[in-house]
Amino acid sequence: MTALSALKGVGPQLSNKLQRLQLYAVTDLLFHLPIRYQDRTQLVTINQLIPATEQLVEGTITGSGIRFGKRRSLLCTLEDQTGSLTIRLFHFNKSQQAALQNGRTIRCFGETRRGPSGLEMVHPEYQLRDSHQPPPPLDQRLTPIYPATEGVRQRTLFSLTTQALQVALATVEELLPASSRQGLPSLPEALQTLHRPTAATSKEQLHRCHERIALEELLAHHLSLSLIRLQHRTEQAIPLPADQPQVKQFLTTLPFTLTGAQQRALNEIFKDLSHPYPMQRLLQGDVGSGKTIVALCAALHTAESGYQVALMAPTELLASQHHQVLNKLLAPLKIEAGLLTGSMKAAPRRAIIDQLESGSCTIVVGTHALFQKQVHFNKLALVIIDEQHRFGVDQRYALQQKGESGNTIPHQLIMTATPIPRTLAMTFYADLDSTIIDELPPGRTPIKTVTIPESRRNEILQRVHANCQLGKQVYWVCPLIEESEALQCQAATESAEQIQQQLSDLKIGLVHGKMGAADKESVMEQFHRGEIQILVATTVIEVGVDVPNASLMIIESAERLGLSQLHQLRGRVGRGAEASSCVLMYRAPLSPVATERLKTIRESTDGFEIARKDLEMRGPGELLGRRQTGALQLKIADLTQDQHLIPLVEQVAPDLLNHAPEQVKKLIQRWIPEGERYRSVG
Ligand code: ADP
Ligand code: MG
Repeated sequence: MTALSALKGVGPQLSNKLQRLQLYAVTDLLFHLPIRYQDRTQLVTINQLIPATEQLVEGTITGSGIRFGKRRSLLCTLEDQTGSLTIRLFHFNKSQQAALQNGRTIRCFGETRRGPSGLEMVHPEYQLRDSHQPPPPLDQRLTPIYPATEGVRQRTLFSLTTQALQVALATVEELLPASSRQGLPSLPEALQTLHRPTAATSKEQLHRCHERIALEELLAHHLSLSLIRLQHRTEQAIPLPADQPQVKQFLTTLPFTLTGAQQRALNEIFKDLSHPYPMQRLLQGDVGSGKTIVALCAALHTAESGYQVALMAPTELLASQHHQVLNKLLAPLKIEAGLLTGSMKAAPRRAIIDQLESGSCTIVVGTHALFQKQVHFNKLALVIIDEQHRFGVDQRYALQQKGESGNTIPHQLIMTATPIPRTLAMTFYADLDSTIIDELPPGRTPIKTVTIPESRRNEILQRVHANCQLGKQVYWVCPLIEESEALQCQAATESAEQIQQQLSDLKIGLVHGKMGAADKESVMEQFHRGEIQILVATTVIEVGVDVPNASLMIIESAERLGLSQLHQLRGRVGRGAEASSCVLMYRAPLSPVATERLKTIRESTDGFEIARKDLEMRGPGELLGRRQTGALQLKIADLTQDQHLIPLVEQVAPDLLNHAPEQVKKLIQRWIPEGERYRSVG
């Protein structure tokens, strides 16, 4: 590996700045690819100018002068046979002003926009000459524009990449066998073209070069996770063979039978648990598909085998709800689950920690608090994580390692109601086996979803009122104000007050993220018991909350929420036999994209379909959460645009893993920085 300092012009100062761009070695520069190109290879006439596009144009100056307006500016008019164009400079000096003389020829490069009097260019690059002088030659190549940082100019990056192409391109190893490239260019060829396209390089060629490199990057991530998955097979976990009279007995105490999909999921989980290596399973199922029972059966089986289970929920609200549900279900078996959350008082907290350490508590529900330093499990064999697909890979392993005891690590079951489209799964979850519960329990009436503008708020309030008089309950969700949780809580508080004023005969509750756990819980309790008719809430109720009598949900400013999030929220209703509905309030006018999004959610109740649309429209950040995408930056590939490469990734990966372990290692080293690799590879 050759350090950057080997290149001409790179001293310690520039070196430091380049590190901010993740550039350490000469080969890093080769993978530092342009984000776009400027085209100075063609001169266009004034009537060929396209607003908001950078172009090269030339004309004769026919007038210039200072305009005193809101902002003083120097205007200069130029003309060619096809029209005229204004150049506007806000910053200029005397000599610049003097040089812009009538009759001179000016060649400009910049973006045009529609100004007060026709097309104009603001601060273009320009070159002046006298009319008898010959025109300077045009560029032979497109100009690459690189991702830059303060103090590192495009010209510097151009010079550095030029040197890198000269000294290092030949050393770049092609790691993909030709058979797997499906006619895409070789790596050196793709790099050369992307850095230095010529006037003859077509958009299509650039696109194929991008694809070639994106393919390799997606493949590297997939391989890295696949290796982790293989490595797990070599680790030890406590095998829990599947003979479970207690689970069978438990199932007979339920007022329903499992759906086929639940049964299948359970069979897969029991099979995993019987292995002497740790289960790593992702259980995906739409809201209301009945994941809790499946998790509980796995927990019970583990407890029955004499080991401990920890079930972790993302919020205190959800943890305590799970705790209650579990204990109700477990009561006939005379088993009691424990609860451990961050906000518990010292004494009960101490008590549960002691029970976990002695092993007398076998099933524990909690939040992150379960994995604090003070907590030691006696014989933890299974960790279940609910509604937490947003965990990054590294966090998943941190949790699992917490549960290590002796030389075994716990089995892990991760449950998510946000379906993960294949593209994401192949890139970010390739270390996990996956089960999908693709069937809802019978007897559910589909939720009816309507969109209504904010201006008809009073009508909606009347509907809410009528609903409550029939003995039903209502969720009222307040807008997401992403920048600030405080503002979100404030908005909810105001909404609650306003609704209370208008519907003074009803009892209204409020939950938001700034409330203490005990307060939140007591409000939720009252809602559960039907003492509160309308629950005004922020998006804290997004996941898991289960109150079957609530059959109407109003979501304010729905246009601001992501599709998957709306779907999750909506899943809070439609849990009883009653027909349920969801009203999406929006502020008019809607943008075309927002209109399309609301249409999707109105017309579909299929979480997978919705997640796919969400990925298409908003990219992976919304689905994975910022934490995850932040840690796992893709440099080149774009999960939305490059989805079609995934089948190829899947096709190539097993071959490489089986036949070319050296290549696999090199691919991972090339694409995933040491610090971001989940575990040491090879
Ligand atoms: P989620 O998958 O969203 O976590 P839950 O586990 O909370 O869903 O289940 C939603 C509701 O469906 C619960 O009230 C649960 O008791 C009920 N339920 C689960 N499985 C079945 C089934 N097979 N038949 C009928 N109702 C079921
Ligand atoms: Mg759930």
